[in-house]
Amino acid sequence: MVNVDALNTLARRLSPGAMITDPDLLQSYRQDWSFDPAAGTPIAVVRASTTADVQETLRFANSHNVPVIPRGAGTSVVGGSTAVDGAITLSLERMKSIRVDVSSRTAIVESGAITNDVKAVAAREGLYYPPDPSSYEICSIGGNAATNAGGPCCIKYGVTSDYILGMTVVLPDGSVAELGGKRIKDTPGLALTKLFVGSEGTLGVITELSLRLIPQPPTPHTLVAFFPLMADAVAAARDITSSIRPSELEILDNAAIKVAEEFLNMELDTDAGALLIGRSDAGNGAETEMNLMSTLCEKHRATATYATDDPHEGELFIRPRYAVYEAFEQKGVVIGDDVAVPIDRLPELTDGIADIAKRYSTTIVSYTHAADELTHPVLNYPIGDVAAAESASAARQEIYQLVSTLGGFAATEYGVGQDKRDRLSNSLDPVVSKLNRTIKNAVDPNNILNPRVLIPSSGSTDGI
Ligand SMILES: Cc1cc2nc3c(=O)[nH]c(=O)nc-3n(C[C@H](O)[C@H](O)[C@H](O)COP(=O)(O)OP(=O)(O)OC[C@H]3O[C@@H](n4cnc5c(N)ncnc54)[C@H](O)[C@@H]3O)c2cc1C
Repeated sequence: MVNVDALNTLARRLSPGAMITDPDLLQSYRQDWSFDPAAGTPIAVVRASTTADVQETLRFANSHNVPVIPRGAGTSVVGGSTAVDGAITLSLERMKSIRVDVSSRTAIVESGAITNDVKAVAAREGLYYPPDPSSYEICSIGGNAATNAGGPCCIKYGVTSDYILGMTVVLPDGSVAELGGKRIKDTPGLALTKLFVGSEGTLGVITELSLRLIPQPPTPHTLVAFFPLMADAVAAARDITSSIRPSELEILDNAAIKVAEEFLNMELDTDAGALLIGRSDAGNGAETEMNLMSTLCEKHRATATYATDDPHEGELFIRPRYAVYEAFEQKGVVIGDDVAVPIDRLPELTDGIADIAKRYSTTIVSYTHAADELTHPVLNYPIGDVAAAESASAARQEIYQLVSTLGGFAATEYGVGQDKRDRLSNSLDPVVSKLNRTIKNAVDPNNILNPRVLIPSSGSTDGI
């Protein structure tokens, strides 16, 4: 464990007020949104204001063998920014500047900027930053880059990595790499920018990003359709995505419809097996796309379809998708997973999850981004109910087992974090696993960066 004198020396090299060691203040940096009760306590938090602060911190940590947990806004739901005893938590929350260059349609943003602020500054210039994780109002752009965050619009616009042109990243030894640039095809050599996207703070600390912006799309038209069975909705979704690229395509299962109806009271069909919500922002082509979606839903036995070009009505139509999470938050603990199975096996997945929920007497709803086959099973139980928490945990294990049986993968959107690392190491192809470890060992030989996240290092004690 590093001593106080050494920490004080580091504090003097940093921007004024950057280091926190007050035990009360350290508490608020222990957990992220995974709310792990076993989260550690950092020996110090560094709130960097500059890239130089990050360099000083990493140089210090590397030479004293102190683990470092990079932290954006702390919204990880898989323990990506959960603190570790004896580590320094390196927060980017003070680095928030956002500059838009209209002529090159790019934004230069510091990592701690909140995603919604990036979107808003771009929108003021008539430009659009598409990636839309549901947490966009509270998460940071650096955290999005580190987890390659995605959201409903990825069906048409892609995920965070599709918008990162370049970055400034500080390596574990304190050196700075400037990767990529303002142009889509900018630098020779390996595609190193992509290597750091999704690396979950294990290879370097990103301090600045160059982001690609696109013109603002037109206001979307919205369609909802109810189906007797999940299989019908899946068949419709498959036909829709073979014909057009909607700007969103979501499917809710029966349990999700019921929770949304209880919360919103908007006369949703609670007997339906599935609710499909589709959107088109194709401007003059949107009406044609809506008509096609309606036709394909009816071909696959939709019992009712409604479409609207009215933006306010459209927001109402899409409300059930987001209401599920809000409804659960009011009731207690919410645990969302991010699993993926081949789309044809989605009915087996949602039926299986409904069966697991019944057996464990717990509530589990599922909603799916239909284009990328990503399903969120979401569990809910009262705060402080230990038995219910244990049931939920056992139910989740069964869901992961089911996903594996159906040829799927149990960590697809939120990242791997500390929570899912062991599961990942068991399911990765051995050659891929070795390649991951080789890269980690080459870039971070002392294993100081987020040592419990993502990649188990060979025979390691996790650097702690
Ligand atoms: C209600 C809710 C809804 C969500 N919905 C979505 C969703 O739709 N899609 C989705 O993808 N995720 C979603 N998430 C998960 C989470 O918001 C994302 O993973 C987000 O990208 C994390 O950003 P953050 O700034 O909070 O990062 P943190 O939680 O602080 O960190 C996340 C990971 O990134 C690393 N990291 C953070 N900043 C940096 C940096 N500057 N340099 C290097 N590494 C860094 C951390 O070490 C950690 O491993 C949701 C979370 C919540 C609570």
